[in-house]
Amino acid sequence: MSPEILAQLPTAVASPYSPAEFDAYVVNSYARFPIVLERGQGCRVWDGDGREYLDFVAGIATCTLGHAHPAMVSAVNRQIQKLHHVSNLFYIPEQGDLAKWLVAHSCADRVFFCNSGAEANEGAIKLARKYAHTLRGIANPVVMTAHASFHGRTLATITATGQPKYQKNFDPLMPGFHYVPYNDIAALESAIAELDADQPQVAAILLEALQGEGGVRPGDRAYFQRVRELCDAKGILLILDEVQVGMGRSGQLWGYENLGIEPDIFTSAKGLGGGIPIGAMLCKSFCDIFQPGDHASTFGGNPFACGVALEVCETIERDDLLQNVRERGEQLRQGLRAIAQHYPALVAEVRGWGLINGLVLKEEAPTVSAEIVQAAIAQGLLLVPAGPKVVRFVPPLIVTAAEIEQALGRLNQALGNLSL
Ligand SMILES: *Cc1c(COP(=O)(O)O)cnc(C)c1O
Repeated sequence: MSPEILAQLPTAVASPYSPAEFDAYVVNSYARFPIVLERGQGCRVWDGDGREYLDFVAGIATCTLGHAHPAMVSAVNRQIQKLHHVSNLFYIPEQGDLAKWLVAHSCADRVFFCNSGAEANEGAIKLARKYAHTLRGIANPVVMTAHASFHGRTLATITATGQPKYQKNFDPLMPGFHYVPYNDIAALESAIAELDADQPQVAAILLEALQGEGGVRPGDRAYFQRVRELCDAKGILLILDEVQVGMGRSGQLWGYENLGIEPDIFTSAKGLGGGIPIGAMLCKSFCDIFQPGDHASTFGGNPFACGVALEVCETIERDDLLQNVRERGEQLRQGLRAIAQHYPALVAEVRGWGLINGLVLKEEAPTVSAEIVQAAIAQGLLLVPAGPKVVRFVPPLIVTAAEIEQALGRLNQALGNLSL
């Protein structure tokens, strides 16, 4: 629907949709806010009562181009009318074109497409295990991951995720994972030395360039450079999970560009399709060890998802959105720091890259992130926590200076209402 038509729609119509009806039929695995979102335009969404919200959640760092972006609308229309799904048993031009774009704009040589971040990480873990078995003769390969990491909800990826709260009651977990503190090179070196003492076991190190769910914690440049050297020296694969920080969100296309290193394998999902489900595992040419039959996905890389994702990629480039991400990110961090000054007992720091930022609360702060998020939503600003002590800001990459100012104003109002 065009913006003109949307603008004419009545906004104060009460939603006929009831959360109780929803809860009667949908599995209760999410803590939901009692809000029914019905339409969106740009960086704004509206609920069933016509209330407008600034969307600084963006489907959790997913709606790269916001809502109802004309480029996405026309790509969706074009692709659904042309061809939306065929099997990977046939050649798919949109998939090839998207892979070509991603390879041209990254350190990767090849791409495998799937549907989600967890599935992309599964592919990366499988590739790393095959590499260890076939090229290094490791019988029981180990993948090192970090405390406070997040890699998805499948059994392998909750095991990779270094947070016990995601694993509780789902054991037995997957063998072959070992955890170390993030950004701590000494801990990593001694853990590898111990694991490899008798014979090499460590196949790969899987890290986020910036930990998203774990609290918007940016990777340390010196740490990642040392990790790269360690991997090179020992033949260990470096896998970066770029599912949240990638696709331009950091102000660079890929999070690793902020760290001055290149991974051997990295994964993408969230922002890649701008909200259309798609994931990707990107790798150097050694991935040719994957042979026909080794890995597959029915929906992965279908013409619909790839055609739309390619439009998202080309729009990022055409509209120079990385520059916008850097400028708006700087504006947002400055504004958050100015607000934080009024709440010295509340805020420890403001941190992040580009348009993935966290307002980090003090350990002894008088409230938790969920309460601040609730107060912000009441003021018409959608936010999402990243753990109990961090409020996360991940707006669409198209966000304007005026929208950042308005969001800061609404946050300020929300904090005022909490009487902290
Ligand atoms: C969201 C996320 C995932 C999981 O992605 P899904 O699409 O939900 O499977 C994996 N890794 C990171 C860093 C994420 O933020």
